[in-house]
Amino acid sequence: MMKKGRRNLVPIVLSIALLLMMFAAMSFQAIAQSGATATPTPSDDSNGGATEPRDYYADPASSTGDAEWTIEERSFTSNYPNGFQFSARVSSSKGDIENATVMWSHAPRNQGRRAATYDESTGLFTSVYDNSEGTPPWVAVNYRWLLTDTAGNTYRSEWFMGEEYYDDPSQWERFESEDIIVFVEEGLPEDTGQQTLDAMAAQRETYRQAWGDVLSYRPRAILFSNRASFDEWRVGQGNPNVIGQTNAAWGGIVQVVSGGGVIDLAWGTVLHEVGHLYQDEFVPAGLPVATWQNEGNATLFELYQMYDYEQRVRDLAASGQLPALLIGSGPSQNSQGPDGRNRLGYDMGYVFYKWFVEVYGLDAHRQLTEMLGPSVGFNAALEQVTGLTTQEIERRWRTWLGASADAPTPIPIPTMRFPPTVTPFIFPTASN
Ligand SMILES: [Zn+2]
Repeated sequence: MMKKGRRNLVPIVLSIALLLMMFAAMSFQAIAQSGATATPTPSDDSNGGATEPRDYYADPASSTGDAEWTIEERSFTSNYPNGFQFSARVSSSKGDIENATVMWSHAPRNQGRRAATYDESTGLFTSVYDNSEGTPPWVAVNYRWLLTDTAGNTYRSEWFMGEEYYDDPSQWERFESEDIIVFVEEGLPEDTGQQTLDAMAAQRETYRQAWGDVLSYRPRAILFSNRASFDEWRVGQGNPNVIGQTNAAWGGIVQVVSGGGVIDLAWGTVLHEVGHLYQDEFVPAGLPVATWQNEGNATLFELYQMYDYEQRVRDLAASGQLPALLIGSGPSQNSQGPDGRNRLGYDMGYVFYKWFVEVYGLDAHRQLTEMLGPSVGFNAALEQVTGLTTQEIERRWRTWLGASADAPTPIPIPTMRFPPTVTPFIFPTASN
C-alpha cells in the first residue's frame, strides 16, 4: 500500500547540491591573523566539515592588514518567493572597497554567497539572491560580510544572526518548542503544529540516545496546505511529483500535505525526515550509504507507521521469501519484494535496525553511526559493534524474524548510491 511517498527517495543530485559543491570549491582564502583584531580564527568557511557544528556561528570577525572597517545601515530583506537581499554601507580606512560579498547560512556547515554591487546613488552595497536554487520560506538566515579594499586588506565580519526568509505571515502560523520550529500554512488542521511539537518531544530522548546528542540547531518543519503555494519556491527542484524535501542546507524539512492526515504527518513523516537531518549532522563522512540503510534508519524514528512494516517482513520470512540484506547488494529502498509490494528496502532496513537496537540498544546505534566513514563501511562497522561476522549477523537477524537462517542467493539489484562527495543530502519525498 502506497498512500504517500515520504520514503520514496529519488537519488537525483539537485541543483542546490551542485551549487553548494561549487561554493565549497571556491576556496575562501584562510585569513592570516591580524594584530589589529582580537584572536581571529583562520577557519575555512568553505569547508563544511572543518568547523564544529555547535560553534559554527561563533566564528568571530577577522581581518588581514591594518585597515579599520565599518559596516553600517545593515539590512536584510525577504523577497519571497524570489529570494532575499542584503545591504550595507561599508568602508575601509585604507582604500575603496574593491569587493564586497555576503555569505549566508540557513543551518550549520552550509552556506551560500553572492557578490554585492555598489549603488552610487545610495552609497550602499547590495547582495541579491534570486532563488536560483529554490529555497523554501521560513528558513533561518544568518550572514556575514566579506570585504576587500583596494590596498588588499580583507575583513570578514562576525555572523549576524536571527533573520528569516519570510512569506506573508498572515498565511502562516508558527509553533516552537525546544525541539523544533513549525510553520503551518493556513488550510491545515488546527492541531497540526501542536501534534508536531508533541511528536518531536516524544522522540527527543530516543534521538539523543541514538545519536549521542540532539541536533546542534532547532530544525524547522515547513508544512504547506496546497500544491500551488508549495510550487512557488521550487525552482529547479526536479521531480514535479515530489511532496516533500529535506535538506540539511535548509536545516529543515518541507512538506505539502496531501491527505495523509495530521497524525501521519506529525508522528510519521516529520520524525522520519528529522531522522535524515540527524544522519547528515552525525554521519557526514559516512553517508550516504545504501538506500535501505539510510531509509530504514530514518524509518526507525517514526512513531506512526503507514502499515505494519515488521509484519510485512515477517510474512516474507514465513513464506521463505525473505531476500538477503547484508550479504550482497541488498534491496534498494523502493524495490519490489517477492510479495509484489514495493518499499522493500524501507521495510527490511527498518526491521533490521529495529532488531539491532532491540538486541544491542540505542547506544550501539550511536557507536555504529560514529564508526561509519570513508574507510569503514556499514558491514565492517556492524562487525565491530557486535563482534560478529556479517554472515552471523544476517543469520541472527533472519532467525529473529522466523526465516531460515541461511540467506538465499543475494538478489541482483544494484545498490543505489549517491556520489560520495555530495553534501548536503536532499531527501525528496515523491507521490508517484
Ligand atoms: Zn527518507
